[in-house]
Amino acid sequence: MRIRFSVTFRERNVPDDQGIQELREWCALFHRLGLAPLFAGSSLGNLSFRLKKGAPSFIITASETGMKDDLADDAFVTVHECDMERCVVCAEGTRNPSSESMLHDHIYHRRPEVNAIFHGHSELILSSAEGLSLPVTPREDPYGSPELIDSVSEILDDLSCFILRDHGFIALGNTMQEAGERAVAMYVKSKEYRAARARSSRETGYQIHVRK
Ligand SMILES: [Zn+2]
Repeated sequence: MRIRFSVTFRERNVPDDQGIQELREWCALFHRLGLAPLFAGSSLGNLSFRLKKGAPSFIITASETGMKDDLADDAFVTVHECDMERCVVCAEGTRNPSSESMLHDHIYHRRPEVNAIFHGHSELILSSAEGLSLPVTPREDPYGSPELIDSVSEILDDLSCFILRDHGFIALGNTMQEAGERAVAMYVKSKEYRAARARSSRETGYQIHVRK
């Protein structure tokens, strides 16, 4: 997805942090589970972690990365700060940060205890959201928009998982492990929910057959 903000680069270096390898592995798992599907040659979804506890900077996947199965070092970008009013993101890296960088920045500011934000796309999870009683943003908003940030802001409170209406899901955690496990749990519960629905519709079909 193309970015809707301008980027000023503090440095044009590829970020170097020991958390990057773990983030790369979570990206690969998202790829394997179909939570970062390809769209127009780029993979959807964006994942980030906070650089230091309590600090505003975070490392996020770059915009328009290919498949997330084995991201190269330059597919990660540090975001230092975002100016929401002027729509400017101050970053460090060789590529543009994810189109949802401002949303990640907003969540890190609102939730000081959150140190990882994983956003994925999954038709399976979206279609099961109502059945699983997952919180959903009130409106469908364009990706990377201030309206999307407003919608998230309305429901965020202390949620750890929620759905962006007709778009995707977000899992938060104190650690990458926690955010990742929450995302995987949503995926597993959605699969179970769909299987249970399929079973119950088969059973209904059988009963109708018997009545004939
Ligand atoms: Zn998205």
